[in-house]
Amino acid sequence: MKTITKHYIDGAFVESHGRETMDVISPTTGKLIGRVTLADVEDTRRAVAAAKGAFVDFSRSTKEERAKILRRLHEVSSARIDDLTAAMVEEYGGVVQFAGLIVQTGVNAFVAAEQALHELPLTRSWGKTTVTLEPVGVAGLITAWNANTLFICLKLASAIAAGCTVVIKPSELSSLQTQVLVEALHEANLPKGVLNVVTGLGNVVGAELVGNPDVAKISFTGSVAVGETIMRDGAKTMKRVTLELGGKSPTILLDDAALDQAIPSALVMAFMNSGQACAAGTRLLVPKNRLDAVKQGIRDAIHAFPVGDPADPKTAIGPMVSQKQYDHVQSYIRKGIEEGAEVLVGGEGHPTGFEAGYFMKPTVFVNVKNNMTIAREEIFGPVLCVIPYDSEDEAIRIANDSQYGLHAAVLGTDLQRARRVASQIRAGRVVINTMTDDPQGPWGGFKYSGIGREYGRYGIEAFLETRAILES
Ligand code: NAD
Repeated sequence: MKTITKHYIDGAFVESHGRETMDVISPTTGKLIGRVTLADVEDTRRAVAAAKGAFVDFSRSTKEERAKILRRLHEVSSARIDDLTAAMVEEYGGVVQFAGLIVQTGVNAFVAAEQALHELPLTRSWGKTTVTLEPVGVAGLITAWNANTLFICLKLASAIAAGCTVVIKPSELSSLQTQVLVEALHEANLPKGVLNVVTGLGNVVGAELVGNPDVAKISFTGSVAVGETIMRDGAKTMKRVTLELGGKSPTILLDDAALDQAIPSALVMAFMNSGQACAAGTRLLVPKNRLDAVKQGIRDAIHAFPVGDPADPKTAIGPMVSQKQYDHVQSYIRKGIEEGAEVLVGGEGHPTGFEAGYFMKPTVFVNVKNNMTIAREEIFGPVLCVIPYDSEDEAIRIANDSQYGLHAAVLGTDLQRARRVASQIRAGRVVINTMTDDPQGPWGGFKYSGIGREYGRYGIEAFLETRAILES
């Protein structure tokens, strides 16, 4: 059993002042695998004070000095890729085929930020006016559990590139993974106080960061409910906020799509990270005249998404992160059935042979209307809703008829047409024909999916203030 009793403050691992502990339960077996001592307000204030002290010098560092630090962070985190992946598989049951990609994307964020920093002009001048982009101050980075290494690396890389010092509050469900990552980052020998990490509860450590007047900025990844709290409570100290929130992303299958490619793509987008992904394409919009063929295609393709041990590279669907999350997803399956949707594959309960952990069957509903609860609310599990449409215009209307606007996909053979449809989707990112990523491309949501953007120069700009100096 692993025990964590320390936080990372002012360049050192220090014993927790907070005494409350939390058990870490394996989602794969339901057994106790660790215990973590949670930070309290005092630990958080110490971390903020360290970050505030370090900001004085770090905010004056040069681009070159920060680029060097980013390269070091990449080096030390790359050296622990296997350990980081293993911790993600063990602690929350992330399937290894996806966890490996997530960790790789996380450590690459340091390189991507270095490139973006190099290309981002921090000074502009004309006449007797000079405009500079200045680090905003101490940043509180609050993250969700479902891709811990990625969120921490991404936010840290942008903050460092901008010249900010940070206090990271990882999800309390990611303590073991965070420990491996912080051990790695410690090896980069950052100036003391630039990086601080306190693991604790959201309503304790998170709330203190949001309310603390010495924290200038909150970069948050998590639910809409907590995002709203952060905006409201952060207003008292005029916090700058970046909010990366939930989604109910549409995948529009156009009537010229090649189904043998489009259906597996749609299922990958729906079930990535066992459906516990903000970007999951959970509403599949299908032209009515192809509905029967799509249903048959899904029945055939679902065999390529086996449930199993997340450490097995063949497994596509692992357990839900916790009993609470399992119950939450199951309640939506019941709700879908009650509201008149039809289960095409999957359904309630554990798959046979997987009763011990929090495993569930990947589930596809058909006969779904876009006003049903399962089509409107984020489920955060492997549940896909198939929604029929009559025309391209109706598909676009249904896709945009959501409070969310994080991600979307368009699947079709005629690229011009796919682009035309993509350009009408109210979402921060739209992919055409396959799930893809670009570390310099912005990431973030329209509407309730959030405020602001991460990745590349967009991510760095979120940690900068603009100052003009005018001479007479
Ligand atoms: P959550 O909102 O419950 O928790 C996120 C973080 O906020 C955790 O660290 C938690 O401890 C902290 N927190 C809780 N209460 C707080 C408070 N009062 N003040 C400050 N911090 C507080 O979300 P979760 O269950 O960890 O993650 C799932 C959600 O995250 C989903 O809605 C998902 O869509 C979203 N998400 C979004 C993105 C994105 O990039 N847009 C990525 C991943 C996950």
